[in-house]
Amino acid sequence: PPECRAAMPDAPAVPAAGLLDALRALLGPRGLLTDPADLAPHLADWRGLYRGAAPCVLRPASTAELAACVRLCAEAGVAMVPQGGNTSMVGGATPDESGRQVVVSLARMNRIRDLDPVDMTMTAEAGVVLKAAQDAAAAAGCLFPLSLGAEGTATIGGVLSTNAGGNTTVRYGNARELMLGLEAVLPDGQVWNGLRRLRKDNTGYALRHLLVGAEGTLGIITAAVLRLFPRPRETEVAFCAVRDEDAALALFRRFRDRDESAVRAFEYMSGTGVDLAVRHIEGVAHPLATRAAHYALVDLASSRPDAGLRRLMEDVLEAALEAGEVLDAAIGGSEAQRAALWRIREEHPEAQKREGASVKNDVSVPVSRVPELIRRCSAALAALVPGSRPVPFGHMGDGNIHMNLVQPEGMDPAAFLARSDAIMDAVNAVVRDLDGSFSAEHGIGRLKTDMMEAWRGGAELDLMRRIKAAVDPRGVMNPGKVLP
Ligand code: FAD
Repeated sequence: PPECRAAMPDAPAVPAAGLLDALRALLGPRGLLTDPADLAPHLADWRGLYRGAAPCVLRPASTAELAACVRLCAEAGVAMVPQGGNTSMVGGATPDESGRQVVVSLARMNRIRDLDPVDMTMTAEAGVVLKAAQDAAAAAGCLFPLSLGAEGTATIGGVLSTNAGGNTTVRYGNARELMLGLEAVLPDGQVWNGLRRLRKDNTGYALRHLLVGAEGTLGIITAAVLRLFPRPRETEVAFCAVRDEDAALALFRRFRDRDESAVRAFEYMSGTGVDLAVRHIEGVAHPLATRAAHYALVDLASSRPDAGLRRLMEDVLEAALEAGEVLDAAIGGSEAQRAALWRIREEHPEAQKREGASVKNDVSVPVSRVPELIRRCSAALAALVPGSRPVPFGHMGDGNIHMNLVQPEGMDPAAFLARSDAIMDAVNAVVRDLDGSFSAEHGIGRLKTDMMEAWRGGAELDLMRRIKAAVDPRGVMNPGKVLP
């Protein structure tokens, strides 16, 4: 917006000493980091794709402290980059290289303020680590179902700001569906308290949904009311070799048609991905005698103690075996075995890393088109970079596949990565053809801002820009992210 462009060139390269002094007086020594060694972990993303600069990291301990910081920075025209666990896949939490932006870490705002097993809600501050939120829910006999590979580090503020998905979207929805209310500091330093724990609340625009998925560009989330669910009393996990992509989808439909509420996760893996996990990750073993080009992992759960999930699992697998869709299957008989089956899927990113360079694509299509997505992208990528290895995997049950490509053996990783744009373009051409999205669950951050015009241009992007200009007229909230 013109207002933002007008404001930014006046921002000081380094906050004026007066501003730093005021922030120091407000936050104390634990709340303001300026030592380069302390700043370093906050200035790069975990994949090393982006490395920024910042004069300081602010670590407020309360909403009031954060609001005062934001007021000071906004008045000085200094841009702020909110940061949770810094596990972003798209460089969303990394400052740019200008040295003009300050990082605002929510790490010290990590209290669970309230947990109510009657309302089935938990009020958690933004810096609460996702795993800690899951554990707090479990200790109260409940479930907070959001689950993803980075859950030991990602925070509640981060998962809401990116509307994270993960393994259980098929059953419980994305982070947005798990949130009832929010508290946030707006770009001018006002505190908005929308921490309502209501299931019905039709009172004008749903502002909380504007902040979810905004990746810190419209304000800083400080706390949220999260939905809890009854804890599962029965779970079953099976790892299945399937005939092809269509058979994987057919298997998903068999489970869904029998008992939709029982399907907690349904994941697809390629033979290449499973082989890499078994080869590179200590303790990961192939659970089947059969080797296949395609696999599915199904996870069933129910809060009913007498749900009969083992019976359901066996019945459906038997029918799918008879139909030739499933070639072989292993059912986890114990908690340890279920965890071992899940590990094959969860170690996919690490196994790919150990095999060399890979280009990652987080895309989604309607569930019915996932087989076509996998087939067409795999063929296009193999033709584009001869010898490269497509490793599609992910959340088939909600239409989100990570259409990754691992470098050819022996190729210079830099030469392979130089082809990243062409690889992403090839995937996105198929995704567009199948009415999908170029960013399913990781967001836009810095990585995909250039693609917004082509995918969301016209009325949609225009409205986003007008919302940004109205909420953040000075352009101080995470500039350079989401909007081109
Ligand atoms: P950060 O990385 O710190 O920030 C992410 C974005 O949110 C940035 O734009 C930042 O500015 C903004 N932000 C952070 N906190 C706030 C706040 N309080 N208020 C306003 N804005 C804020 N993602 C999925 O969706 N599904 C997956 O299955 C998944 N698996 C992953 C597996 C691994 C191994 C890794 C490393 C990442 C994975 N991710 C996944 C991506 C990442 O974990 C998510 O995007 C997560 O939501 C980020 O949380 P965070 O606290 O680390 O946020």
